[in-house]
Amino acid sequence: MTNDKNQNGRPTGVTIKSSKELDLMRESGQIVAETKILLAEAIQPGLTTAELDRIAENEIRKRGGVPSFKGYLGFPATICSSFNEEIVHGIPSNRCMNEGDLISIDIGAIVGGFHSDTAFTAGVGDITGKAQCLIEATEKALRLGIAQVKPGARIGDISSAIQEYSEGLGYGVVRQYVGHGIGRSLHEDPQVPNYGSPGKGPILRQGMTIAIEPMLNMGSWETETMSDGWTVVTADRQLSAHFEDTVAITNAGVEVFTSVNMVEAKV
Ligand code: MG
Repeated sequence: MTNDKNQNGRPTGVTIKSSKELDLMRESGQIVAETKILLAEAIQPGLTTAELDRIAENEIRKRGGVPSFKGYLGFPATICSSFNEEIVHGIPSNRCMNEGDLISIDIGAIVGGFHSDTAFTAGVGDITGKAQCLIEATEKALRLGIAQVKPGARIGDISSAIQEYSEGLGYGVVRQYVGHGIGRSLHEDPQVPNYGSPGKGPILRQGMTIAIEPMLNMGSWETETMSDGWTVVTADRQLSAHFEDTVAITNAGVEVFTSVNMVEAKV
């Protein structure tokens, strides 16, 4: 789930995690990584997003986790499910996925009080080549952002790597919603924008944990929120994609807690 720069989910300060706390996040990260695989395999024409939501909640609870999003600021479900021009925060419903749709799934779990947060976009059945390129570019943008993570680097190094690559391909990079620190709270400081300048912003320190989550639009970066108060769509109603991983800054550089390569997994 993203942090809205302007309103809800106010961040709660930068925190450094102990090794025991990192173990809990590693565990919640593994739960959502494995749930992601299950959801990716389940996606097919005719299935509703409410059914995907049930699969996710059952799996998280079966593995000893608690859904992060359910009840968060009143959000009613375990996953966010966003179709096509929807960017993030779509609410699962009885809407069926149809051949050719893009579906973005965002999912979080808590173990021992510590959250992990992850997201991916997949095509439903056959999708257009342009849509597939958008998905692959968004995952690549996430990987390029993660590659910047090490002690002493700055948030702006992540931001600029994502922005430069994505805008270089002509995509719009969403600005209103950003990545975030994560731990005992779903949204902590620092904010992790998907646009910015290298060498700027907060310094990354060993023991920090952050969620990096590029949202790329086929057209303009501008967004609107629908009347349900949650679903964020592209202002121009063109397609959008979203990938997210929760990572720790380690002595060696970076550890990804929620890692699955969804494009290579052919989902
Ligand atoms: Mg997030």
